[in-house]
This record gives sequence, C-alpha cells and structure tokens, in this order.
Amino acid sequence: MPRTAEEAIVKPVVDSDLCIGCGLCEEMCPEVFAMGEDGIARVIAADPTPELYGPVRDCADMCPTEAISITE
Ligand code: SF4
Repeated sequence: MPRTAEEAIVKPVVDSDLCIGCGLCEEMCPEVFAMGEDGIARVIAADPTPELYGPVRDCADMCPTEAISITE
C-alpha cells in the first residue's frame, strides 16, 4: 500500500559528480547539508526529522545541477 506524504521517509543523497559546490543547499538547510573541504556538498543527516522534509525537498528542487536526489 502506498504511503501517504506524512508517512514518507525522506532520505537525501548528493551526487558528488554533479555537485558544483554552489553552497545553496547548506545555506537553505544546514541541518542536513554541509560543504566538505573539497567544496562538494555532503549529507550530514541521512535520516532527517520530518520538519526538515520541506526544506530538503526545496534544496533538491533548487539545486542548479539536480545533484540532490531523494528517496521516499
Ligand atoms: Fe552542490 Fe547542488 Fe548543494 Fe549547490 S545546491 S552545493 S550544486 S548539491
């Protein structure tokens, strides 16, 4: 049975080959994304709390290279 939006579990992933290090995701949602020393974003909360689902989805939508994907 499909899960409702409320029950969906959001798991963000950054594709390091696509990330251009613009810093937008860290700026928008520092609880989940952080820039590494190599200038590439990483996920620091692979299993974010539900109140962060909106910001995480916004980051995925706004990432200029579509480097952020989400499994739900
Ligand atoms: Fe990389 Fe996208 Fe984050 Fe920019 S928004 S740092 S391109 S993952």
